[in-house]
Amino acid sequence: MILDSTFIIYSSLIIACLIPLYIYRQKVFSFAYKTGSLEFFIKDLKQHMQRNHPKISLDYSIIEKTKDEKDIRIRETLIVEDIISQFFYHEYEKNTQKGISREKLWSTYEEKSFSNPKTPNDWIERRELAWIRDENKCNRCGMEIKLDDTFTTFAKDIAQGGGYNFENIIILCSDCNKVLNDKNPKNTIASLNLNDALIKYVEG
Ligand SMILES: [Zn+2]
Repeated sequence: MILDSTFIIYSSLIIACLIPLYIYRQKVFSFAYKTGSLEFFIKDLKQHMQRNHPKISLDYSIIEKTKDEKDIRIRETLIVEDIISQFFYHEYEKNTQKGISREKLWSTYEEKSFSNPKTPNDWIERRELAWIRDENKCNRCGMEIKLDDTFTTFAKDIAQGGGYNFENIIILCSDCNKVLNDKNPKNTIASLNLNDALIKYVEG
């Protein structure tokens, strides 16, 4: 039997993601430890996801499904695990993006847009303009990102003949890049810290 590699990768990612979550549980749930209020915890969680990942539509039925769990900490863990898993599995298709008005383009733009295994020397400008075009937001989850934290992918892979033209450049946050870039050898347990945002939200 041949296992679907995407399934294996995503499963590994989720496991990888949950390990640090378990380790940092005390820290993650410091808010709830203080108040013991599930209601506030859920409100915070929803606000956090809405603010940081507005394009990820979430199903919160896990709250109802875990209603028989008496231990509030276990219940909160189950809820957060479910939300993280939904973030991973969020269905996303790489689509052609908007272009940039012609007056903003430069004389060598066209010739350097063609598919080429070597990144063009004006790539930094292209990346920045694509980031501005997308109002600094991740195309997959909608998170607002700084230019320095911006990752990119291509609607059509360069290896498949995709070019460096703006219509082909997609802006991503680091977490979505990790989820999508399943060929990235950095996607190991040690490097995956996707739960960082959740840790921060309870601390902040
Ligand atoms: Zn994202």
